Amino acid sequence: MTSSPRPPQSTPDDPAADRPHLPMRPLWGCGSCPAEWPCPTARHALLAEYRNDRTALRIYLGALMAEAAEQLAQVQTHPTADLHRRFLLWV
Ligand SMILES: [Zn+2]
Repeated sequence: MTSSPRPPQSTPDDPAADRPHLPMRPLWGCGSCPAEWPCPTARHALLAEYRNDRTALRIYLGALMAEAAEQLAQVQTHPTADLHRRFLLWV
């Protein structure tokens, strides 16, 4: 019988550390950790990736914030008021 779900694999080296922390639409949680996206790991990676072009990072995050606001409005009953802080104030 192979119908039982596979048991969780032991992760001595924590493979999540190597996985990119990407947003899971439409709820905008992180795909690799329990935090909301951008989680601390994602922020760190974005700051490293855009270290020479912080303006491009703000533009990129602004576009994602607009997308998140639109999608979250459809799945949540109350508006998410802190998207600006979550997506942009830390840059
Ligand atoms: Zn994460």
